[in-house]
Amino acid sequence: MTSTVLAVDVGATKVAVALVDENYSIREKHEISVQNNSNLWNEIEEVSSKLVKIAEGSLLGVGIGSAGPIKLNDGLVSPINIKEWRDFPIVEKFASLTKNSNIVLHGDAMAMVHAEWRLGAGVGCSNLLGIVVSTGIGGGLVLENQLHMGESGNSFFVGHQTIKFDGIECTCGRNGCLEMYSSGPRMVAMAKERGWKNSDERFEVLAQSAREGDQLALEVIDHGAKALAVGIVNSSASLDLKTIVIGGGVAQSGDIYWEPLRRHVKNEAQYANFMADIDLRPAKLQRDAGILGAALGIFDNSNSNEDIQDSLLTLEENRGLRKV
Ligand SMILES: [Zn+2]
Repeated sequence: MTSTVLAVDVGATKVAVALVDENYSIREKHEISVQNNSNLWNEIEEVSSKLVKIAEGSLLGVGIGSAGPIKLNDGLVSPINIKEWRDFPIVEKFASLTKNSNIVLHGDAMAMVHAEWRLGAGVGCSNLLGIVVSTGIGGGLVLENQLHMGESGNSFFVGHQTIKFDGIECTCGRNGCLEMYSSGPRMVAMAKERGWKNSDERFEVLAQSAREGDQLALEVIDHGAKALAVGIVNSSASLDLKTIVIGGGVAQSGDIYWEPLRRHVKNEAQYANFMADIDLRPAKLQRDAGILGAALGIFDNSNSNEDIQDSLLTLEENRGLRKV
């Protein structure tokens, strides 16, 4: 029987829940809006219960990628955009919902990096930095063929790395965080402060203005790309890594973003000759990276078919589906 994972991607604006099978095909994907949703967990529970029924006895476990910060060892998440969830016991909730104790939690950016490393732009790399440039800036890290989670599960917390110690105060309380200069909404806010006018305040609209030759939009995107380049080169130099995969909505804007980003990374990296061949790659999996990375948390923990068979057996026993 094909084994299946219930994959959960808790993002800034939505929670996606899906079934992923061992060939990494995604079935039954549902998205639940986070904004002003006081019923969020109930909706997740309802959808997940239906998916568990569809998976029947094939469910290996639940993989979760969540916006942070997270407390990996305690199974708790506190996504900044879901104010009702502070130290929310997401692992315990899913264990109780699915009657399955095989639950793996990742940070959302780590889930993206996991997916890109195993199935996307980072296949074959022993060491890899992944950065998500979107509403915020997140990161994940593969070191010597292993995901590097860190002590608390928050390794490579790159968005709140400061690039200007007396810079703008960030929502986190620190000054000059990378996120304050390079996220999509912050680039739009900077453009507006300088007089860019558009009722639609999405980054893709700013990018379109830049493509049409709007000088202000071009300057602001150049500045945001330069800020990210500084963060990339700082991180790359600290770890002596050369391959960086960049995903997220902003990174899907094409040359209008990638041309200044590559130029600034090359320029910033030249102070140390060991970084001459820094290799920047666009993410390949786009919208599915979060769900696939969440599922990989379970699939990669099931090291062999024997393990998979064992866990299925345990699951079936737990549910009284198999007499022993
Ligand atoms: Zn910050």
